[in-house]
Amino acid sequence: MPLFDLHVHTSYCGHAAGSAEETVQQAIQKKFRVLGFSEHFPYPEKYVEPIPGCVVPGNRWTEYMNEIRRLQSSYAGQLDIRIGVEIDYLPAHEKEITEAVKSYEFDYIYGSVHLINDIGIDYQEGYLKERIHQLGGPDGLWETYWVMMEKMIRLNMCDIIAHLDLPKKLKCAQPSKDQTDAIRSILELIKQNDLVLEINTGGIDRGCLREPYPSRLILQHAAELGIEMTLGSDAHAPGQIGRHFDVAVGLLKIYGWHKVVIFKNRKKEYISLNEVLMPSM
Ligand SMILES: [Zn+2]
Ligand SMILES: [Zn+2]
Repeated sequence: MPLFDLHVHTSYCGHAAGSAEETVQQAIQKKFRVLGFSEHFPYPEKYVEPIPGCVVPGNRWTEYMNEIRRLQSSYAGQLDIRIGVEIDYLPAHEKEITEAVKSYEFDYIYGSVHLINDIGIDYQEGYLKERIHQLGGPDGLWETYWVMMEKMIRLNMCDIIAHLDLPKKLKCAQPSKDQTDAIRSILELIKQNDLVLEINTGGIDRGCLREPYPSRLILQHAAELGIEMTLGSDAHAPGQIGRHFDVAVGLLKIYGWHKVVIFKNRKKEYISLNEVLMPSM
């Protein structure tokens, strides 16, 4: 079992199972040292959610934050609980997003692109299949995705890039064009902005692929550029924390990384890859 997991959701977001406290208890039982909640931040008030139940509703955010803070103090000494967040990049709402984020003291911020022109690109196969023509088919989807990713990085709102190649999740979105050039320029931008890239092991259990985000091709280029990495399970149920971290650690070692990054008060802390996984009894 791993020492930490930074990418964890709860039932507050509307599409995950289990309470925050159940997840904390699971982490203690499994002897985690650090558990970071990274719940989906509410959409801006004026934004009409295209799919219900994707993020924590605005009117429950304070209750959610209070609950995590309560857990932080009740379990102090047993588990180092950190408060992160996952933020959806919405190009028409850049100002509201950056302002809203500033009003909380997060330990770290994940930046994500889940929606292109209000279409959920990782939602459901049938749903995306019906709408993908509106995005110019799979190639158009990927093209716009990289443009949005670039804008999000330039906005300087996040510390970690979540699931960098998310659109690969659904079968109908597999591109016919080679993505290497787009990937390379996004990775260069990630490096220039000193952002951390996540190996998101949720990819292994979801959608049509059986590999983490990002792909080996991306990992290879990221390693060449010396990009720093972190690990996240994207747990949507307490039992999923730390899932497949052995796979992720193995991949990082193959491409030459020796350490990963976690955050506290938006400052980096380094953990040697050899210490990420505890030997099983
Ligand atoms: Zn996400
Ligand atoms: Zn997530």
